[in-house]
Amino acid sequence: MTVLRDGYDALLLDLDGTLYQGDLEVRGASEALSSGTQSLYYVTNNASRRPTEVAEHLTELGFDADESRVVTSAQSAARLLTENVGPGSAVLVVGTEALADEVRHVGLRPVRSFADSPVAVVQGHSPTTDWAILAEATLAIRSGAVWVAANLDSTYPTARGLVLGNGSMVAALRTATSRVPLVAGKPAAPLLEDAMRQSGSVRPLVVGDRLDTDIEGACTLGVDSLLVLTGVSTPLDVLRAAEQQHPTYLAAGLDALNASAENSRICEDSRWSVEFDGRDLVIESAAVSAESIDSIALLRAAAVGAWKFPDFDWIISTSPAVSAVVSGWSN
Ligand SMILES: [Mg+2]
Repeated sequence: MTVLRDGYDALLLDLDGTLYQGDLEVRGASEALSSGTQSLYYVTNNASRRPTEVAEHLTELGFDADESRVVTSAQSAARLLTENVGPGSAVLVVGTEALADEVRHVGLRPVRSFADSPVAVVQGHSPTTDWAILAEATLAIRSGAVWVAANLDSTYPTARGLVLGNGSMVAALRTATSRVPLVAGKPAAPLLEDAMRQSGSVRPLVVGDRLDTDIEGACTLGVDSLLVLTGVSTPLDVLRAAEQQHPTYLAAGLDALNASAENSRICEDSRWSVEFDGRDLVIESAAVSAESIDSIALLRAAAVGAWKFPDFDWIISTSPAVSAVVSGWSN
């Protein structure tokens, strides 16, 4: 049987919310990835860890990973720096030693003070970033330094919940400088471009849990994408997704890679009629109980209608079974 992954020569996999949550594997993720012949590339917006550290973490959780198949936004940020400043230039690093290593690796000179005359600033997540280093960066950016952000993620997941991410620290510098940075990570193109180049892929599938990073990044590059509902984005997010954030496929989890592509493709589905009455989407079905409904299949069908009529108020149905499923999407 031909399965979804067979249509692609590489899988560009997001990590957090897609393969793991903190120190826990997303249930069944490593097993779902273990079959198939595509190369697996691990593509992360997080610039705080070295590729070797990311590969070790993945291996501990049971994934088939090595350093050569990890692509980080720190690497892409360093690549962007080389395209904007001369060899050997001083670069002020707002971020971890792992980010400084990438700067060094591309032949630039990481510094931590404006007094070292940096011609660029690179900014990635670090739990120890404080006012003092942001002040150095402010001085450099205000004096005209090139500014590269590893990503603009507003939040960062921890075991205690979401805390401020690199994008929130970038926002502080934007306020202080009235400048905007070049961006390496998803949904900007550089990181996924680097992953495609590194994998040699001509037909990759981007797999992730966030519409506003993974899926929008895939749309920016014009490649197919699979959204899995194991992380941040919710059914409601799918229904309200802007056009540049529409995934090709939608599934509960990575198992979908090993089933028919048509099972997960977002397209009209003859099991449901979806119409717009001028205010609401009206979905009808012959199904008699909520248990008999494949809720993800219903969500795909609803998404087709919701994307066609984005001003819809909500979803209604004369079927209690459909209404019961839809009520679970409202938050
Ligand atoms: Mg994620």
